[in-house]
Amino acid sequence: MDLWIQPCAKCADLYGKPATEPPHLDLTLSGAGAVKDARAEEHYTCVRCRAVFARILVGAPTRQIWMLLNAGQH
Ligand SMILES: [Zn+2]
Repeated sequence: MDLWIQPCAKCADLYGKPATEPPHLDLTLSGAGAVKDARAEEHYTCVRCRAVFARILVGAPTRQIWMLLNAGQH
């Protein structure tokens, strides 16, 4: 968790997009055990830049976005 990454262009582009946006091709879906409730969110890891995304699938529409969990910049 201390390893902060610099997102690649694709990740930087996806960050903050609605969860309806499909994952880009370098993202791999983490195992179902990675999150407490797989229906509430999905976690993806980028093979290119090691970015970890949470794709929020529940809650208010404005909260259902692609969140970057380990980016060095906010
Ligand atoms: Zn990336």
